[in-house]
Amino acid sequence: MNKREFIRNAVLIAGGSLMGGRLAGNPEQAAYYGQKKGEPGRLTLRFSPYTLQLRHTFTLATNSRTTTPVVLTEIEYDGVTGYGEASMPPYLGESHESVLKFLSLLNISQFRDPFLAGDILDYVDSVAPGNHAAKASVDIALHDLTGKLLGRPCYQVFGLNPEKTPVTSFTIGLDTPEIVKQKVAEAEPYKLLKVKLGRDNDKGAVEVIRSCTDKPLCADVNQGWKDRRYALEMAGWLKEKGVVYLEQPMPKERMEDIAWLTAQSPIPVIGDEAIQNAGDLVRQRDVYSGVNIKLMKCGGLAGAARMIDVARALGMKVMLGCMTETSCAVTAAAQLSPLADWCDLDGNLLISNDPFEGLKIVDGRIILPGGPGIGVKKVRPA
Ligand SMILES: [Mg+2]
Repeated sequence: MNKREFIRNAVLIAGGSLMGGRLAGNPEQAAYYGQKKGEPGRLTLRFSPYTLQLRHTFTLATNSRTTTPVVLTEIEYDGVTGYGEASMPPYLGESHESVLKFLSLLNISQFRDPFLAGDILDYVDSVAPGNHAAKASVDIALHDLTGKLLGRPCYQVFGLNPEKTPVTSFTIGLDTPEIVKQKVAEAEPYKLLKVKLGRDNDKGAVEVIRSCTDKPLCADVNQGWKDRRYALEMAGWLKEKGVVYLEQPMPKERMEDIAWLTAQSPIPVIGDEAIQNAGDLVRQRDVYSGVNIKLMKCGGLAGAARMIDVARALGMKVMLGCMTETSCAVTAAAQLSPLADWCDLDGNLLISNDPFEGLKIVDGRIILPGGPGIGVKKVRPA
């Protein structure tokens, strides 16, 4: 956190009323909230705002930005600390303010047994509706903590084989041809590239990538296309260009048009913005061929595991994605990656101030860290 962000966050907290007066008003002490040290036999939650600096301006069909707000959480139990994270891209409606407010309402020190994760997460869910990223930050920290207490990586606790992680894609944002070529070069370890479409010159954007690589692509339109016939024509053209799936081609409200497209598209149509949780998945099982599951949409690993089960029962494809996040949340999502058809877990590589080290990419595949919990290490202060 640079000085300006620290002061801004400190002022935010010193405001007091936002936090219901529960947090210290001294800016010098405002960087970390919650009890400083855990009491034996009790769960202690700490949380801190942080701002991710993006390596490149991130441009989508709907907006562009250079930073992403996150909140880093810790849950301590008997001297063991689990790490978690909430990431708040603007389109989901959460912010530093809303996440800090939600977390300040929680009293998880009432729980004596971290392995009653179902009870703890039900309690967290009951405190207020929404707040999915804030809830995910508690879920991730709790999974990390319980894995560490067991001395086992989370993927083992879920019964998954780390040899079965799928290839993961690297997102090439919309930009000038020179920058796109630079991004493709940076994505050298990846076997699958993702292109963001939904602006005026989609074919041109794909052609620029095709001029520097013949790796398979996936296309994310972020709701950018408005005409279903155009979308179908593009799906055919993209298949010819080696695109393996099409993500959120049209606005999420246009369910009838998207169902029409999915029925005829030569490549799978994946729902992202349209599908936040298992209920959305059931309601839209005839609209999409698959779903992009993200911890920040569904509230964490427990919700994501539930969504994967539901998607498979409905015969749908499963993609595991992320927001712009540190290696903490990305590595947490990767614990479930042996269950996915495709992963898009590159959010940590898009930032220049990642405080954690976690998953690695070798030959395009995710290599899960072998340490207990989610397996991340804090490598610099945040
Ligand atoms: Mg997407």
